[in-house]
Amino acid sequence: METPQATYDVAIIGGGVVGTAIARELAQYRLNIVLLEAGPDVGVGTSKANTALFHTGFDAPPGSLEARLLKRSIKRLKCYAQEVGIPIEYTGGILVAWNQEQLTKLPALQNDAQKNGETLHPLTAGQIYQKEPRLGPGVLGGLMVKEEGIICPFTPPLAFATQAKINGVDFLFNHLVTNITQGENITYLACQQKTINAIWVINSAGLYSDKIDHLFGYKRFKVTARRGQLIIYDKASRSLLSHIILPVPTQTTKGVMVCPTVFGNLLLGPTAEDLPNKHDTATTHDGYMSLQKMGRQILPALQQEEITATYSGLRAATQHKDYQIHLDEKQHYICVGGIRSTGLSSSMGIAEYVVDLLREANVTLQPTETFKTITMPYIGEDRQRKVSHNPYRIKQNPDYGRILCHCEEVSRGEIIDAMNSPLPPPNLDGLRRRTRCLQGRCQGFYCTAELVEIMAQWGSMSKHELLAINQ
Ligand SMILES: Cc1cc2nc3c(=O)[nH]c(=O)nc-3n(C[C@H](O)[C@H](O)[C@H](O)COP(=O)(O)OP(=O)(O)OC[C@H]3O[C@@H](n4cnc5c(N)ncnc54)[C@H](O)[C@@H]3O)c2cc1C
Repeated sequence: METPQATYDVAIIGGGVVGTAIARELAQYRLNIVLLEAGPDVGVGTSKANTALFHTGFDAPPGSLEARLLKRSIKRLKCYAQEVGIPIEYTGGILVAWNQEQLTKLPALQNDAQKNGETLHPLTAGQIYQKEPRLGPGVLGGLMVKEEGIICPFTPPLAFATQAKINGVDFLFNHLVTNITQGENITYLACQQKTINAIWVINSAGLYSDKIDHLFGYKRFKVTARRGQLIIYDKASRSLLSHIILPVPTQTTKGVMVCPTVFGNLLLGPTAEDLPNKHDTATTHDGYMSLQKMGRQILPALQQEEITATYSGLRAATQHKDYQIHLDEKQHYICVGGIRSTGLSSSMGIAEYVVDLLREANVTLQPTETFKTITMPYIGEDRQRKVSHNPYRIKQNPDYGRILCHCEEVSRGEIIDAMNSPLPPPNLDGLRRRTRCLQGRCQGFYCTAELVEIMAQWGSMSKHELLAINQ
């Protein structure tokens, strides 16, 4: 009997920020690649609900893979962000000690940061109040984390995926991998619709990366969903703060912080709650109350500010203190699991590391002759949008002057561009992550009807279907 030929060289399971970064990195080589995603879009898991700090990794365990890959990623992501248009602001962070116990932990933190290649400068309480006069009473001292920044959480996975797609990667959405079998030089990934086969499989299934690892016959780690609830304050609050206000981290969490967002809001959170299931992204009364209590202490003026929204995300926490990245050469399998709290910042470093592992396994990696570049729609608040508000572009296309989402100032032209992009949004949430519409003060009260109208006209779903899946 003839040995069956694999359809794909590489199959990536999971289209979060990690899986899409890997897809983009591998698209630079002559490989036939497919990405299988259980959801209808990229970035719909943990990657869409985080704090969106651009971490330096100063508090990562020194010598860990996480620390190394963060370091590698930061440089890369900084350049890539400039190249394609990912909003990043280098606000700097101030790590604040509010009690004696936290104060005594600062030298060790400074020491660990030094080992990770980051110099943190000690600050007295007076210096901290000078930089951030609205902080609550009780600051005892702290550390300046100069390089810490904020990043758009939505554009990175979209940019990675878009670039991968235009460079030939196949994206299969609504493809949940339910079973895995292996033959000689070929792995079969059973999905509800069909079975996909590939020579190599990369597991970047986030919260379910342990499940996929089990299907390959391993029990190396168990993922526990660690929920983080967050509160977003109205844009009017943005002027209360210039830096990210970081707490002293504990063994289990980086702790509750107050930070600006690239969309011009303030963010308070996240909580850290280990859950028995992996899908409970509800926000709770207790979570809200505990955040409000912390907020009162850190920045009392927040109490007077309007809340725009609350949300929660689930970290893929494991029993280990490091990423779970394993190469299993014989099985042609790479596990990229347990990317707990820093995956947005480390995504490009992780992707490069996966390429290193494939090289280590003697996979032939021949660069493609043409790797197409991209420019993403810039959705940060720090610069003027390239299209709406731009008289020249409005003259060319009046739709850029027709504002539909007044809270976030998104024009009809930008919505139509998103619908015509290489990876169009499948639903309203996808449109929000691509353009910022619906995420402002009115939370879609005024613009949903018109947005649905356009999506139905340019996409494949009817208005009723779009509204039904938005419930
Ligand atoms: C509250 C919170 C705050 C955070 N703050 C920060 C921060 O400030 N900075 C930072 O850098 N990081 C932060 N993180 C961490 C960061 O968000 C994650 O590390 C990152 O998003 C993980 O990406 P991922 O691709 O591994 O997982 P995901 O985004 O969850 O992607 C995995 C994908 O796999 C798919 N999938 C799962 N199982 C299957 C299957 N069987 N078949 C097909 N598809 C499947 C899922 O649908 C999902 O889309 C935070 C996380 C949380 C929760």
